[in-house]
Amino acid sequence: MTSSNDAGMDALTEPYRDALRRGEFVVQHCKACDRQIMYPRHLCPFCYADDLDFVAAPTSGILHSFAVHRVGSPTGFEDQLPYAVGIVKLPGDVQFLARLHPDAEGDWGQYTLDGEVVFRGADADEMTARPVPWFGLPA
Ligand SMILES: [Zn+2]
Repeated sequence: MTSSNDAGMDALTEPYRDALRRGEFVVQHCKACDRQIMYPRHLCPFCYADDLDFVAAPTSGILHSFAVHRVGSPTGFEDQLPYAVGIVKLPGDVQFLARLHPDAEGDWGQYTLDGEVVFRGADADEMTARPVPWFGLPA
């Protein structure tokens, strides 16, 4: 699903996408100032060092906000309606947009803002086609 004409960006994000395809979630880490970075960048946004690697991310975070999309999906997501996306904050410095698994009732009514969410990848086909972080409610 590589469509970018920016090979530098593809190389930068490949370790992130590869981890998601394996069912793992990583974030970028600055070796100079020891802070975590999301999304992947060429330079640390805190100290501008370029000595960055990827580390396992905390698997539990807080749901800052979310929206359930029932109509009007972007092209390519029509068959996924309804679906939910939210901003997840992990301990430390990172926050990002994530897909949200439906709750036990098949909707998203059990999610609460500032509630705990845990990383749990989607099925292998979805993670291969669209490697993005998926979160759900704790078991
Ligand atoms: Zn840094």
